Amino acid sequence: VFRNKLEFFAAAKISSSFPPPTIPEIAFAGISNVGKSSLLNALTRQWGVVRTSDKPGHTQTINFFKLASKLCLVDLPGYGFAYAKDEVKEAWEELVKEYVSTRVGLQRVCLLIDTKWGMKPRDRELIDLMEKSQTPYQIVLTKTDIVFPIDVARRAMQIQEDLKKNKSAVNPVMMVSSKSGAGVRSLRTVLATLARF
Ligand code: GDP
Repeated sequence: VFRNKLEFFAAAKISSSFPPPTIPEIAFAGISNVGKSSLLNALTRQWGVVRTSDKPGHTQTINFFKLASKLCLVDLPGYGFAYAKDEVKEAWEELVKEYVSTRVGLQRVCLLIDTKWGMKPRDRELIDLMEKSQTPYQIVLTKTDIVFPIDVARRAMQIQEDLKKNKSAVNPVMMVSSKSGAGVRSLRTVLATLARF
């Protein structure tokens, strides 16, 4: 499915402008700078369709991309910009929360966590919400190339242990580096199983 051309087809600032949920959807969430756009580019090998590094101050939208009519990839705005105005921050976060807890057809949320820094309070908030709404989510550790392999493994084990009682957490924790390409293929394989054939 990831060989199909990636096409941007909708952007939404409010939930009423989400496109109708006609194909299976996988969303990507995480704090800003976690490596989300880089991962989307690496997964699809279509550089430039998803722009990297949204800068604070830009209008944040939920962006919908499709791979033929088989799978929709959704880029959720990164939360937790240190320098954004509070009301702007809240608006993005509300939108992300509304999306993950109500979206029909959402098969999985990939929650990206920086391997070096681990989970942040905002990640936990999102996890709590997904547990409440029974939205399946999978933790994806990013930027594994800048951490010693032993520490990557430790981080993965720690998170898996942390989420042991969480019913909507999908195992295993995946580990990727968009830079070296490590783990990208495995993640692609896992996510491809959620597509429509
Ligand atoms: P986003 O804000 O979550 O979309 O993050 P970006 O994909 O724009 O990446 C944020 C920063 O992290 C950029 O400077 C990227 O070059 C860097 N980055 C992203 N992925 C990796 C990775 O796998 N390894 C390393 N070393 N840096 C990465």
